[in-house]
Amino acid sequence: MFNLSRYFSILSLILIGLAAGLLGLMYREASVRQMTTLAEDRNLAMAQVFENALGDSLAELMDASIGKDASMLQQSEESLGMRNSLTSLLRRTAVVNVKIYNRLGVTVFSTDATQIGDSNLDNPGFKTALSGVVTSELRHHKAMETFDGTRANIDLLASFIPVAGEGQAIDGVIELYQDVTPFMAAFRNMLWIVTAVVACVFAVLYLMQLLVVRRAQGILHEQAERIEAARSTLEVQVDARTQELRRAIHQLEGEVAERRQAESKLNYLAYHDPLTGLANRRYFLERLEASLIDASAKKQRLAVLFIDLDQFKQVNDSLGHGVGDELLVAVAAALCEHVRLIDMLARLGGDEFICVMESVRSDEEVAMLAQEVIAAFDSPFRIDGHDLFLSASVGVSVYPNDGDSVGDLLRNADTAMYRAKALGRGHYHFYTPEMTRDAQERIRIDMLLRRALENGELSVHLQPQVDSKSGYLVGAEALVRWESPELGSVPPARFIPLAEDSGIIIPLGNWVLRETCRQVMRWKASGFDLPQVSVNLSVKQLERPEFVDTLVEILDETGIEPSRLKLEITESVVMIVEDAFTLLDRLRKIGISLALDDFGTGYSSLSYLKMLPVQQLKIDRSFVVGIGNNPEDEAIIRSVMALAQSLDFEVVAEGVETAEQADFLGELGCHQLQGFLHGSAVAPAEFRARWASLPR
Ligand code: C2E
Ligand code: MG
Ligand code: MG
Repeated sequence: MFNLSRYFSILSLILIGLAAGLLGLMYREASVRQMTTLAEDRNLAMAQVFENALGDSLAELMDASIGKDASMLQQSEESLGMRNSLTSLLRRTAVVNVKIYNRLGVTVFSTDATQIGDSNLDNPGFKTALSGVVTSELRHHKAMETFDGTRANIDLLASFIPVAGEGQAIDGVIELYQDVTPFMAAFRNMLWIVTAVVACVFAVLYLMQLLVVRRAQGILHEQAERIEAARSTLEVQVDARTQELRRAIHQLEGEVAERRQAESKLNYLAYHDPLTGLANRRYFLERLEASLIDASAKKQRLAVLFIDLDQFKQVNDSLGHGVGDELLVAVAAALCEHVRLIDMLARLGGDEFICVMESVRSDEEVAMLAQEVIAAFDSPFRIDGHDLFLSASVGVSVYPNDGDSVGDLLRNADTAMYRAKALGRGHYHFYTPEMTRDAQERIRIDMLLRRALENGELSVHLQPQVDSKSGYLVGAEALVRWESPELGSVPPARFIPLAEDSGIIIPLGNWVLRETCRQVMRWKASGFDLPQVSVNLSVKQLERPEFVDTLVEILDETGIEPSRLKLEITESVVMIVEDAFTLLDRLRKIGISLALDDFGTGYSSLSYLKMLPVQQLKIDRSFVVGIGNNPEDEAIIRSVMALAQSLDFEVVAEGVETAEQADFLGELGCHQLQGFLHGSAVAPAEFRARWASLPR
């Protein structure tokens, strides 16, 4: 750091030294000049005194000197006389020596007689005096010859004073030596004192300034230290802040990357089905919208294929959601692998897939694609040790014929898919406008059905079941009938599936159950004792957790003995209803009989059948129709009979219309018969009128 004190000390010492020296010099110069002026004045006065005192003898001395040599001059009388005059004149004055030169510069007189005769022509004082100007100079002599003898260490002021003769011409020059030794001694003393005082003043000044400077230096030092400390603190803080910022930037970068990742993940999730990785509904809808705009601009056709898996629900229900999920993944993979010409495949949810084919040239091309979709299910899916045979139903709608909006195309493809499903497994169907009419009809029926239940438009009819051997009435099947003011008589085959889809089947089914039990009990009370009544149950009813409670409630409410009630269920109950065995067991324990309706049309395995707590198999009408004309149907009936006998099931055949059918079945050991041969389903009053009087 800059050392202010040191530089100040050096510089101010130099300056003080210079100032003191300069002041000393100036003082000395002034003093000497003053003293010289005084001494010179005195010399002038003395010279005047000499001139006056000597009068003509001075002029004579100078005149007489011309042409004489040194020894002559020394021996001259004038010189000796002058010496005497001057000696008396100069006694008790400060003048210690006098020299007189003639105008030629020759020393004509000197207190020191040896100098008489010397030439002073080159002496500058003499030369100046010749021009009429007085000059003086201070001299120091180690030894000097005076009137009073030899003097040592003497300070003198020598003045060259011109001596003017008549007409003011310079006749000669007097050189006066005035003793200024006391002045010089006093002057030197004074000089010392002045110098000492000046030095002291300067020293004090210097010290004061030094103190100020040192203080300033101290303050500067303190400030510098403080600044340094602040700077270090600042540096540390800046360092820490920089680190912090770096960390923050790092963290921020991490967060940004994370957020980007999360955003892209969110974006992916927003547009993809997390299970299969296919495009999801949203993505599909947006893409279809864009494709439609494109197709419209290019005047091209476009097909939407709605794919629904036929037995997925059963798999999901019976083998669990884990297997169901894996199956969906496998299906997605199979579709991607097998289906060519596809422009986009998406999963809409559940077991519904959808794909788009752009730039459609012909319906055949679309049909080929639909066949490829169906063919993707040809081989079974092996999942979790199960070989799962699956099929798909495909509904197709084509732009622009079947709609020009995403909504229309999707709805129509869906409608077509339902039609394909109705054809059986693994079919595809193109949309036709008539399907929409059907669908609208379904909506209308659904709406009217809701009202029908409240308006009492429904009734229960009963169809007799007779013993195959005796022909006696052993029971009846309760079949619901709907007499609609708008639609007329609507067959159950038309409205039951609809009721199942919409959920009305629950109140409807409960109503049939309650009404049938009441009817049987009313008959019983009035003396007509129907041994057993069968009521059809929808799987949807069985799926409800409160079903058994409702049933028990109905039994209690109507007072019917459980043994008098038989419930007809289909084989699909095992596939669809969770824990079907337990549920059916509970029903058995209540004392209710169970019959497997439409037997032979389902796919239940023998192992299931063996475990099911049912007592009766109901051979489906479609087989009975074949008796006498379709050996295959007969063979099926025979094997069903053999199976029933070995598993100890009672067998009922439905749809028995002819005696031939009745005989065939009776011979095979079928216990009961139901069909138009013995009577169709009729209203309770008619039923009673017909059967009450007959033996049972
Ligand atoms: P299902 O349980 O197999 O009922 C037998 C059907 O065959 C009845 O048709 C009956 O009228 C008809 N049928 C009986 N004998 C003959 C015959 O000799 N020849 C012909 N061609 N048909 C005969 P329906 O009443 O139209 O019922 C159709 C289906 O509707 C029933 O089949 C049953 O699955 C369902 N269903 C009827 N009533 C109810 C109900 O109350 N609840 C539920 N869940 N389903 C019902
Ligand atoms: Mg039935
Ligand atoms: Mg049936």
